[in-house]
Amino acid sequence: MRDPRIQTSASVLGGLLVRAVAAATVLLSLTTGAASAYETDKVALVIIDGLRYSEGLGDPDHTYVPEMWALAQQGTIIEPFINDGYTYTSRAIPAIWCGAWTDVIPFSDPDCGGSSNNYTQLPTIFEYYRKHLSRPDEDCIYFLKDVGCPWKASFEPDYGPDFWPLYHSAGTTDLDVWSQTEPLLEQYTPSFFLVYLASVDHEGHSGNWEDYLDSISTADSIVGMLWDYLQAHPFYAGTTTMIVTNDHGRHDYDFSGHGDSCDGCRTIQFLAVGPDIQTGLVSTVPRTIPDIVPTIGELLGFPTEDSTGTAMIEIIKTGSGDLKIFSDDFESGDTSAWLQEQIIEEQRRWVEFNE
Ligand SMILES: [Zn+2]
Ligand SMILES: [Zn+2]
Repeated sequence: MRDPRIQTSASVLGGLLVRAVAAATVLLSLTTGAASAYETDKVALVIIDGLRYSEGLGDPDHTYVPEMWALAQQGTIIEPFINDGYTYTSRAIPAIWCGAWTDVIPFSDPDCGGSSNNYTQLPTIFEYYRKHLSRPDEDCIYFLKDVGCPWKASFEPDYGPDFWPLYHSAGTTDLDVWSQTEPLLEQYTPSFFLVYLASVDHEGHSGNWEDYLDSISTADSIVGMLWDYLQAHPFYAGTTTMIVTNDHGRHDYDFSGHGDSCDGCRTIQFLAVGPDIQTGLVSTVPRTIPDIVPTIGELLGFPTEDSTGTAMIEIIKTGSGDLKIFSDDFESGDTSAWLQEQIIEEQRRWVEFNE
């Protein structure tokens, strides 16, 4: 593998040429209706609930996330990547699904004996993917622990239950979720799937620092095992992009909680690795949760029209942008100035919205 820290001007020029050709290919594919100009035709999305960036990739020593750190050298991380809305799970997870800060609507769920549940007002990535690419539900699986009745996607007339994912909800720990994921990947080989890991947030709320750190190490090892599995599988190897993110962080003044606008709650992780993702890049173009869904749509070739985000083309090999290659003295983390501006802007929008 080439050293990701070295990028010569010749390779930059070569890259520009490749980009020009790729841009022409994108235009061509839009006019001919082809799905995607990229090598990626599968996406794995992993959400680690409530991992604070300072214990994740924001830790310069990456003590608890060696697997993700190794993957970051093969792929891209974004600093700053921000939760720009509500820093709690019940709003931030649906925002990841929808690529927008969707409302969540309570309803009596017939799939769960009429018990109370929520659905998203806006369509989700599952619905965009299944409808526009005409995929069956087993090609779009949502893996999570047993939560009773999983939150549901939308009832949008153009999308809705016909395009919901196959929910696979079982077990109690992140390792349970992983042990269920592998055989179902083997059985169904879904081209889009989401793995939701809940334990880090759970252990964080327990207030036990050691348990919180252990759960981060476990989630990190699962990400490593998942990537290794995908690279060893003929269906997935070389054609799959994996994205690992969080819904929110944790207070920088108290790891047992979250939910406000402090840096610790807002600053989250975005790691992507795959055939079309820049290698060894720390992208400094500021990005937020709603940008994830349009990026997946860009890679897989489908529109995500109700998303408020934009595709992060600067992390794609055919894209361009504000590139910062890993260097020996790289230390991730300090996003405070930009973050402060974002928070002020976000508060202004909320005030405006509520007036
Ligand atoms: Zn929580
Ligand atoms: Zn906070």
